[in-house]
Amino acid sequence: AEEQLLQAQKMEAIGQLTGGIAHDFNNLLTGIIGSLDLMQTRIRQGRSDAVERYARAATASANRAAALTHRLLAFARRQPLAPQPTAANPLITGMEDLLRRTLGERVQLALITAPDLWLTLCDPHQLENAVLNLAINARDAMPEGGRLVIETGNTHLDAVDARLQAGAKAGPYVSVSVSDTGTGMSPEVAARAFDPFFTTKPLGQGTGLGLSMIYGFAQQSEGHVRIDSGLGRGTTVTLHLPRHHGLASPESAASGLGALHRAARGD
Ligand code: ADP
Repeated sequence: AEEQLLQAQKMEAIGQLTGGIAHDFNNLLTGIIGSLDLMQTRIRQGRSDAVERYARAATASANRAAALTHRLLAFARRQPLAPQPTAANPLITGMEDLLRRTLGERVQLALITAPDLWLTLCDPHQLENAVLNLAINARDAMPEGGRLVIETGNTHLDAVDARLQAGAKAGPYVSVSVSDTGTGMSPEVAARAFDPFFTTKPLGQGTGLGLSMIYGFAQQSEGHVRIDSGLGRGTTVTLHLPRHHGLASPESAASGLGALHRAARGD
């Protein structure tokens, strides 16, 4: 029964995603059809010189459309959450090479891991995905380069802090924050940043799903996520994940990086 419920939730989420993707996909198809029409007209007019340009435009749109459906399929294939006692520090330091490669040479990376960090109860693969997504957003916000800091900590949210976060409970949390020295967000962008399909990036570069997936991950883990940002101030995104009281499970030491690399390769 629990499996059926998970499946139902997954189908609902896919349904919501599909609506938005269908819209973007349709726009891309309209561009492809337009280019093909123009190609036919030019061929009829005996002007083959212009045909190549339209063919290139059609190819570019088709590639963007394919990237969009790949994202949807990757989402649909996503494993249901498998929460387990997780040590965030080794998980994050284990991502250092991947992060450096992702960020490129213009972005300085600093990892600040709190000593005696509590264990957290969450899906470690999803945590890795979240950190990688946040790092990609930070990189995109720092085209001229800058500094990215990923910091962990033990945090106690009191009732007032908790009330500021819709649905959050007071209590002990492991925090993972990702800060950049990038463009920052206007209040309008910050207010909509978690909305599925909200993106300020050019078509084909942003799906607007990164932060909404992180929001979903935080909620399903019974934690929360917060954005502190301002234009010209840079951005800090902080995840709070519930503290796990007890011992680490043996698997949690082995990180899920294998799966992440496979996902990055698209297999
Ligand atoms: P995407 O990255 O595909 O646009 P996200 O849901 O991850 O989707 O982000 C939504 C929007 O929030 C981005 O398009 C961008 O405008 C804004 N944003 C996210 N992270 C940052 C950041 N670190 N700095 C500035 N703006 C950001």
